[in-house]
Amino acid sequence: MRIVADVQQCVGSGQCVLAAPETFDQNDSDGTVDVLRPVPGSDEELARAKEAVGLCPGRALSLAD
Ligand code: SF4
Repeated sequence: MRIVADVQQCVGSGQCVLAAPETFDQNDSDGTVDVLRPVPGSDEELARAKEAVGLCPGRALSLAD
């Protein structure tokens, strides 16, 4: 399972960072998402990443096999 971010859809709200800070960060220049760890390293990390995908107001995040 892999996290995919579409930066064009990102509105820089930061919900993903709040939900899964080990997986996501925000770019210092424009606040858009940076994926720090595209492949979650544990079930807990994956669960937080999935929560972030569901919370994203820009629908910028998805999971791919
Ligand atoms: S939650 Fe979505 S819109 Fe907000 S910063 Fe993260 S990827 Fe961007």
